[in-house]
Parts: sequence; structure tokens; C-alpha cells
Amino acid sequence: MNKPNIVILGAGYGGMMTTVKLQKSLGLNEAVLTLVNNNDYHYQTTWLHENAAGTLHHDRTRIPIKEVVNMNKVNFVLDTVVAIKPEEKKVKLKNGELSYDILVVALGFEAATFGIPGLTENAFTIGNINSARLIREHIEYNFAMYHNDSKKNQARLNIVIGGGGFTGIEFVGELANRIPELCKEYDIDKNLVRIINIEGSPAVLPGFDPQLVEYAMNSLEARGVEFITGALLKECKPASIVYEKDNKEVEIPTLTTIWAAGVRANSIVETSGFTTNRGKVEVRKDMRVPEYDDVFVLGDCALIMNPDTGCPFPPTAQIAIQESQTVAHNVKALIQGNDELESFEAKILGTVASLGANDAIGVILNNRKLFGFKATVMKKIIDNRYLLKLGGFSLLMRKGKFNIFY
Ligand SMILES: Cc1cc2nc3c(=O)[nH]c(=O)nc-3n(C[C@H](O)[C@H](O)[C@H](O)COP(=O)(O)OP(=O)(O)OC[C@H]3O[C@@H](n4cnc5c(N)ncnc54)[C@H](O)[C@@H]3O)c2cc1C
Repeated sequence: MNKPNIVILGAGYGGMMTTVKLQKSLGLNEAVLTLVNNNDYHYQTTWLHENAAGTLHHDRTRIPIKEVVNMNKVNFVLDTVVAIKPEEKKVKLKNGELSYDILVVALGFEAATFGIPGLTENAFTIGNINSARLIREHIEYNFAMYHNDSKKNQARLNIVIGGGGFTGIEFVGELANRIPELCKEYDIDKNLVRIINIEGSPAVLPGFDPQLVEYAMNSLEARGVEFITGALLKECKPASIVYEKDNKEVEIPTLTTIWAAGVRANSIVETSGFTTNRGKVEVRKDMRVPEYDDVFVLGDCALIMNPDTGCPFPPTAQIAIQESQTVAHNVKALIQGNDELESFEAKILGTVASLGANDAIGVILNNRKLFGFKATVMKKIIDNRYLLKLGGFSLLMRKGKFNIFY
């Protein structure tokens, strides 16, 4: 009898954890396990803002897939998914095609630009290793160019970050720490550099506890960050941005706009014909798509309503990792002919946002608020716990964050 083909798309949090769990729990004779990813490495998306700011080298963030996945048990395919054809049980890749009996879709997110003119062409986004590395290089290039222009160009030193949510604020925190080093390196007066965060809501970090938001803003303003809240980005031009606040349009010269104000699911899930809600697949309780019993979707591609709030769970690594547990369990159950599938239940352990390497805010179990040093330690514990789960003690020792005191 042929062994069933399990195909996992995407080696991010959701895909990697599902693969690692299945490689441990399924016997070699039970199924053929295939993982497809567009890089031969896994990266920790939650560290990309550090790579983009230049406070952490991207090699710390990426992990070769072969270091974590057992290549004797998993068939790894380095390729880009182009489309999924669920009626034919096939996945179209840039360089071929795969057939599956069970499919797991964990292709992550894309930036959502909401049709704002010029954003796609002129703004940067923090989406993967390549885009993060480009931002770091671009900022550094502009600092290097500053004293080489015949006429000083302030646009080289104005850095605009669109969006004061989690990603925008974490990036701003890293950048605020990086700028003094860059100024020293390129002989630039620190006071000339502007880090400008533009947020549409009345306050940054919407949904966070107001006391924590105030703490975060104070910490970042003390390091020179400017906040423009209640303002909408109207256009991103090659050398400036335009925002509107109180019915007035304001233009800021800048060669560096980083758009961090929205993500959507990888558009492959929509273009492949799955029914989507806000661009994501609203999965059943067992993480399968409504129309097909052999397709699971998780992570940022999946939409699950939080019964406590009536709103979807936000796209987080925490949720993607928890979902992988349910997906791996249910894939194994189907392979073993067991129709009783587990339902996903989120256990939100807390949320911690870093404000640079040595400051953070967070809420953990029972709504306990954390600030500063304790929150920083908690953030590193969360990061290290993931590494331990993914690749055990050796991965933790190689990639973990142990610089508690900085
Ligand atoms: C800067 C930043 C900071 C964040 N901080 C936090 C945090 O502190 N805590 C938290 O819980 N969440 C955080 N998040 C959110 C979190 O990173 C995402 O929710 C999480 O990565 C989703 O996991 P995923 O498995 O769905 O996708 P991802 O981890 O993004 O993985 C998707 C994978 O699919 C691959 N892929 C994509 N398209 C293709 C294709 N066409 N073909 C083949 N492979 C493809 C990618 O290379 C990638 O490996 C942060 C996000 C960002 C950007």
C-alpha cells in the first residue's frame, strides 16, 4: 500500500513546529513527510526588526532547516509555492508540482498597503531576512552618503515608520538604540536624525494597557523618537511622505519609510480559491479549511475567532506555535484512520513587546503588567523557550539570547 503524502508549505513558526512534531510522532512507514520552503533556512520573524535596525545580525535569526529537521525522515523541497489546487490535491511550485493526500498551509503573511499611493514602490517592509537586511543597508548607506552630498540632504536622516502597532514600536525601539552608534560611525550630529512614528489611532500600541503605552512612549521619546498619532499616511513618494492630521496635510522629506502598519495572509490562500474572511481562511475548530477535509491552514494564513472578545486572534507566533500542536495531532490522527480530531484552544500566556534590547513592556498571566528589566527578561525567556521547543538544548545554546544585563 502506498504511504500517504503529507505536504507542509512554509517553514515559519507554524510549518516548522508542525514538521518537527510529525517527524517525531510518525513512524517512517506511516507517511511521506514533505516540507516546502522558499529558503533553505527558517527565520524567526519575531526578531526581524532587530536585523532591520542593525542591532542583531541576521545569521542569529536564521536557522538552517537541516539543523532542525531530520532529512532522513523529511523530504525538504527548496522552492516557491505558486498556487494550491485543492480539487486536484496538487501544489504548483515555481519549479514543479507536488501531489498530496494531506496538506498543511503555513505560508505566513504579506504587508497590507491598503491602496496607499506609492507605498508598494517607495516604502520598505519588515517581512523576511532579505527585506530586513535591505533596510539595515539602506539606512547605513544614507548615513554614509550624508557627508558625501555636495548639499546636505536632511531626507537621508529622517526615518519614518508607518504604524505604531507591535512591529512598528519594536522596530522603533531598536532603531533608537542603533542611531547613536551610526552617528558615531559616520560623524553625524545625533540631533539631526529624526525617527518619526506615524500612527492612525489616537495612541500607539492600540489594545495595550494605557499605563504600558505611556511607559513605552516615555521610554522611546527619551531616546529621541517623535510620535505623530491620529494621523493617516496619504502618500509615500520617492523622497517624502505625506500624512493628514486634523484635516491638514503635512509633507516630511525622507528617503526611508518603513511600512509596519498592517499584514494580511499570504495571498496564495485567496488566489487558490479557499473561502477567505479578511484575506484569511476561517478554519474549522480542528484547523481544517471549511471545504476540504484534507487541507489544514495555520498561523497568519488562518483566522480563528476569540470567543472571549468576538474578534479574531491577532496574528502572532504564539498562536501559530499553539496551532501547530493541534494540526500535528490531527494530521497524525487522519493518517492513523482516527476521525476524532482535536479542537484548537488558544492559551494566551501574555504579550511582551520589546522597546530595544534593554527595555520592554508586557502583560503576562492574570493580567500582570511588566515594565523595563523584568519585561526584557520575560521577552528573552519567550524567545529562548521557542528555540528549546524547536531544536532542543543545542539550538538554544547556539541561537539563544542570554545577554540579560546588556
Ligand atoms: C518584526 C515582527 C515582530 C513580531 N513580534 C512578535 C512577537 O513578539 N510575538 C509574537 O507572538 N508574534 C510576533 N510577530 C508576528 C509573528 O512573527 C507571526 O505571527 C508569525 O511569524 C506567523 O507564523 P507563520 O508560521 O504563520 O508564518 P511565518 O513565520 O512568517 O512563516 C512563513 C514561512 O513561509 C515561507 N514562505 C512564504 N511564502 C512562500 C512561498 N510562496 N513559497 C514557499 N515558502 C514561502 C517563508 O519564507 C516563511 O518561512 C512579529 C512579526 C514581525 C514582522
